[in-house]
Amino acid sequence: MSSARIVRAVLFDWGGTLTTFHSVDMLDAWRVAASVLAPDDSDRVAAALLDAEHEVWARTTGSLRSATTAEVLRTASAAVGLPVDEVLHDRAVASYLDHWAPTTVARPEAREVLHALRARGLRTGLLSNTHWPRTQHESWLARDGLLDLLDARVYTSDLDVVKPHEDAFRALLDAVGVEASEAVFVGDRLWDDVYGAARLGMRTVWIRNDEVPPYDVTPDAVVDDLADVVEVVDALCAP
Ligand SMILES: [Mg+2]
Repeated sequence: MSSARIVRAVLFDWGGTLTTFHSVDMLDAWRVAASVLAPDDSDRVAAALLDAEHEVWARTTGSLRSATTAEVLRTASAAVGLPVDEVLHDRAVASYLDHWAPTTVARPEAREVLHALRARGLRTGLLSNTHWPRTQHESWLARDGLLDLLDARVYTSDLDVVKPHEDAFRALLDAVGVEASEAVFVGDRLWDDVYGAARLGMRTVWIRNDEVPPYDVTPDAVVDDLADVVEVVDALCAP
């Protein structure tokens, strides 16, 4: 583990990192949206929404181009011949996001970790691969008392690309105001988070998650608990 460089910021992934990892049935979530969009045809619409989301994530994996939830709804509506109705779409997205809400709760130690890092004079930031809107993410962070503890928050639904594309990491580094070599990135995905951040010259901490796809990359540190990140950062900061 290299400790020669100065650490100025600790940057985090969101799902499975600041929150506990949840394996969720995606079709169940889309059924909620489908029951708003087409109550009489909700099975077919839910399947189309799931297909549209798979298409989005497949494209994301291949090209690293980002997407929004609204785009998923538009794609699915076109596929099943539903008219595009913005008001109805907004209601469907709201119900769909409500369904996800229980999986968005921060880990109990997240606040304490962010406090401890800021008490050391470090800046903090968040970079999430998501098609969900910023407003929703920020309200969940505020609910859990994390919003004001993260100096910058970047959501790929506001960008053209997703992690591990370097532009996604650059957007966060610029927002936080640090160089890659001054930052530590903490995440639970080996490809998106660890490989992506390491490629830019950031130091990396992997929150072990055996349910994400494997990738041949070696993080600077591996932790099982988010709370252990503080100790890891202290070690990286040690002269
Ligand atoms: Mg994650």
